[in-house]
Amino acid sequence: MMDKIKVSLLGATGMVGQKMIKLLADHPYIELVKLSASDSRIGKKYSETVKWIENGSIPEKFRDMKLVSTSPEDNKDVDYVLSALPPEAAEPVELKLVKNGINVISNASPYRLSKDIPLINPEINFEHLRILEGKDTKFVKNPNCTSAIMAMPLVKLLGFDYDRISLVSMQAISGAGFSGLPYMSIDDNIIPYIHGEEEKIPAEISKMYGTVQDGKINGKNIRMSVTSVRVPVKVGHMGVLNMEIKKGVDVEELIKNLNNFSPLKGFNGLYNAPAHPIVVHNEADRPQNAIDTYNGMEVHVGRISYTDRNLRMVILGNNLVRGAAGITILTLELMEQMKL
Ligand code: NAP
Repeated sequence: MMDKIKVSLLGATGMVGQKMIKLLADHPYIELVKLSASDSRIGKKYSETVKWIENGSIPEKFRDMKLVSTSPEDNKDVDYVLSALPPEAAEPVELKLVKNGINVISNASPYRLSKDIPLINPEINFEHLRILEGKDTKFVKNPNCTSAIMAMPLVKLLGFDYDRISLVSMQAISGAGFSGLPYMSIDDNIIPYIHGEEEKIPAEISKMYGTVQDGKINGKNIRMSVTSVRVPVKVGHMGVLNMEIKKGVDVEELIKNLNNFSPLKGFNGLYNAPAHPIVVHNEADRPQNAIDTYNGMEVHVGRISYTDRNLRMVILGNNLVRGAAGITILTLELMEQMKL
């Protein structure tokens, strides 16, 4: 039997961290052996210090685990550090780990756009991981939750001769983190602005679809404008995409191509790879947050139409799974299968 990959988790008490714990509890070959959060929790038992809000209870094996620090000393004996730290904390901590030869896969925004650091949304650009070949220390980033979800169906759209893509993203409260939004600001309300999001999404999608040259990733030119709003749902980011396309689009053919998209099917042992990463709904009132986000890695699309040179599509995914914890783990699974 192969040795398990040992990982530690930074940000274990947060939204993404809790989802990561849930997804790793029964993983066949990745073993979560260390947890950390902010310094005030060092030495405390996980179950006694966390405000657990994930479905079900805290997996038994983590209940008594004592939290450690984020330092290289406390994380040097693992194969990978998985980071779910907020951006300000992530930047110095992750850099220090990498400088000390510790592999890091991170959800945080600093360095997402660096040309020599892969920004991985596995089904779209796992090949970008190859720029890590031969490197002693691996540093990998995951995209922002909305970018990860909205990028998926574009795989079958960017080949069209289009003028412009316009995306309105309606983003769940959990996307802002455990204490990101005061209840009184979002209850029964919609906030038509999310700081930094409208710039991040096109830039990250451009990098995901970029090409590799001499170990660097050059972004693809994607003409896209984004309006991001915060909506009062707990989980699931929805986007309404409109795309001006000059030539006619065969909608039936597009639906078939989206349903058949399965670029990782040649790999074995990808425990978190869905058989169909894009699920097309034909019902006029789907996809919906309350029905279609579950825990899954799938991205759901619906309301596909092409009229008056405009292709319209609604896109929905789980921001904590496809947008964060799920792709971190799938990326590590891929790195193992690709022997990186
Ligand atoms: P969160 O709920 O606010 O959790 C942050 C975690 O980091 C907590 O465990 C917190 O510990 C810990 N932390 C905060 N400051 C720290 C410090 N100085 N040193 C050590 N640990 C510290 O945030 P989140 O939503 O899980 O997001 C985590 C990261 O993933 C962020 O970079 C975010 O942008 C990114 N991301 C989030 C989503 C999403 O949908 N939420 C999706 C994609 C990417 P304490 O509990 O002790 O404060």
